Amino acid sequence: MKSKINRDTCIACGNCYAICPEVYDCDNDGIAYCSLDNNTMTKDIDLTLYKSVVDAFECCPTNSVVLENN
Ligand code: SF4
Repeated sequence: MKSKINRDTCIACGNCYAICPEVYDCDNDGIAYCSLDNNTMTKDIDLTLYKSVVDAFECCPTNSVVLENN
């Protein structure tokens, strides 16, 4: 599974990087991105992080967390 953040719709609520800081981080404005691959959706997420990535997906109020199954 890969992930990225739709930065055009992210409202910087902080949920995703609070829930899964191993995968998500934010810029100085609080807008999130996937820190594994600089939001390029090129790197597979470790299996051990799947649950928290899905939690982040479900807790994004603007549906800005994008997941892609391999
Ligand atoms: S949970 Fe959604 S709106 Fe909140 S910081 Fe993450 S991507 Fe942005």
